[in-house]
Amino acid sequence: MTEVSVDFSPALRGTDQSAPLLQVEGLRVEFRTRAGVAKAINGVSFEVNSGETLAILGESGCGKSVTAQAIMGILDTPPGFITGGEIRYRGVDLLKRTAEERRLVRANKIAMIFQDALSALNPVFTVGFQMAELFRKHRGMSRADAKKRSIELLDLVKIPAARQRVNDFPHQFSGGMRQRVMIAMALALDPELLIADEPTTALDVTVQAQIMGLLAELQRERNMGLILITHDMGVVADVADRINVMYAGRIVEKAPVFDIYAKPSHPYTKALLESIPRVDLKGQQLNVIKGLPPNLTRIPAGCAFNPRCRYAQDVCKADPVPPLHQIQPGVASACHFWKEVRGE
Ligand code: SF4
Repeated sequence: MTEVSVDFSPALRGTDQSAPLLQVEGLRVEFRTRAGVAKAINGVSFEVNSGETLAILGESGCGKSVTAQAIMGILDTPPGFITGGEIRYRGVDLLKRTAEERRLVRANKIAMIFQDALSALNPVFTVGFQMAELFRKHRGMSRADAKKRSIELLDLVKIPAARQRVNDFPHQFSGGMRQRVMIAMALALDPELLIADEPTTALDVTVQAQIMGLLAELQRERNMGLILITHDMGVVADVADRINVMYAGRIVEKAPVFDIYAKPSHPYTKALLESIPRVDLKGQQLNVIKGLPPNLTRIPAGCAFNPRCRYAQDVCKADPVPPLHQIQPGVASACHFWKEVRGE
């Protein structure tokens, strides 16, 4: 195979392979709109290492997708602005790099899968053409080699008859198969980190399970870091190692997946768990979290969850915001009353 490698190494200067794959430190993002300044991310910090899956969980508007967009450098600016913090890839703060260097790191080391594969793919080109473009542009491959590699990738994500299907247009694939195409495209350049933003939201439950299984398998095989963004606690149970729960632009709980299901430490996490439909409670009313997430231009003082929280006391309704308190190694909660929540 004649492959001309495109040299993107200058964009990686200063990186250290022994440093964590990704560290987000004190990230702040705001959207300056006519209705006011929406504080979308308010000091978010986390780390992801190779071979590990971190789930970022929360309702729509909690800031999880904006966090991913900030990492990828695809925030719409204006109105979105990163106003603080660091996003370090292998020890190097990407926010201090030029736009072109960030683009090269993003293209070659960090990939993203979007929730809506149909709008992420170009409807007027075959999937084979769109995949081959990646190899031609970033790896300098010939047309024939790029097509061959595209077929290999479609095979990898278990698309039947990949040799024929590579010539199909996006609308000729089912929702699940389209999402497999998106995964194939995301893996095309061998990223070290994959960000999957609600990758199964538009799919039915059986296909959801297949796609999550495929993602987990590929992540293990390639020792990638995986950030899984979702609002669905049912989706993450089998695949995540750790979970960060977000609310109103902050992380309110961090814990390994087992601990969070066994003993949540924040009322919001507990309420999310209670709202998962259960077959053994058939016929009973579903638990819902009362109220709505706050308007990010007017986040309540103190704990942003206080208007919806059944544990709330006066102390919760005034600043300062409760800090993330480490309860045990790997487990932290931003709640004044974490002991009561845990039943301790
Ligand atoms: Fe509820 Fe108060 Fe804890 Fe916030 S700090 S989650 S309002 S108990």
